[in-house]
Amino acid sequence: MMPYMQKELVVSLEDIQCVGIQCQYCGARVILDMQAKVTREMFSPQRCPGCGKDYDSAITNNLDDLRRVYTAMVPRARWITLRGKPQDASTQDRQAEVGMSHL
Ligand SMILES: [Zn+2]
Repeated sequence: MMPYMQKELVVSLEDIQCVGIQCQYCGARVILDMQAKVTREMFSPQRCPGCGKDYDSAITNNLDDLRRVYTAMVPRARWITLRGKPQDASTQDRQAEVGMSHL
């Protein structure tokens, strides 16, 4: 009898630093460093740097909230893990990613 094996992705919050947004129109990706010093109140960009269209506000508003929660949890990050199924490498999107800084 074969034992049932299931892959599980386990990531410590300590190892999470960036979050990515993919534009629903042109597919460009923006990677945001959640540990970057942000001088603006808003963390996430309002429009895609690739095509200039506005991001869905449900995404950007919630990313701002995610960063607030992340920042509050970082001092206790070693006690928190995120778990999920690993993505199949063959189906991963291979589009170029666009880096953004918060200066
Ligand atoms: Zn775009």
